Amino acid sequence: MKFDLKRVAVYIRGADTEELLDRVTVYRAGMEPAAVDLMEMELDRRGVTQEEIAEHDCTRRETAIMLPDGTAMRCSFCDRPAAVRRWGWHRLFGRVPVFPRVFAYCTAHLSPKARPPEDSADRAD
Ligand SMILES: [Zn+2]
Repeated sequence: MKFDLKRVAVYIRGADTEELLDRVTVYRAGMEPAAVDLMEMELDRRGVTQEEIAEHDCTRRETAIMLPDGTAMRCSFCDRPAAVRRWGWHRLFGRVPVFPRVFAYCTAHLSPKARPPEDSADRAD
């Protein structure tokens, strides 16, 4: 896949600070160095300090499931790092259980208030 710096720059400007923090820390190993540079510049522009980035890195690594490639496993339902893996049903059209699979949950999707993860399984991956 060709690395499109212009598109990445547009994406970065519209991204949440939390998302950028995740990418320059626990997802850093899987990123283009040029993209990491852009994200660090954007974080700096938003007033996020090096200390805050290091702190975010520590906090995430306390709960994140790290993969052999040095990046964090992603939640099955969003882009945050996953904290827990559990078995669930992969559902066809979000309804018909087809086969059991392991889902990864970030701390936000782990909360009992979040809707049952099986319902959104079709959007996984
Ligand atoms: Zn999530």
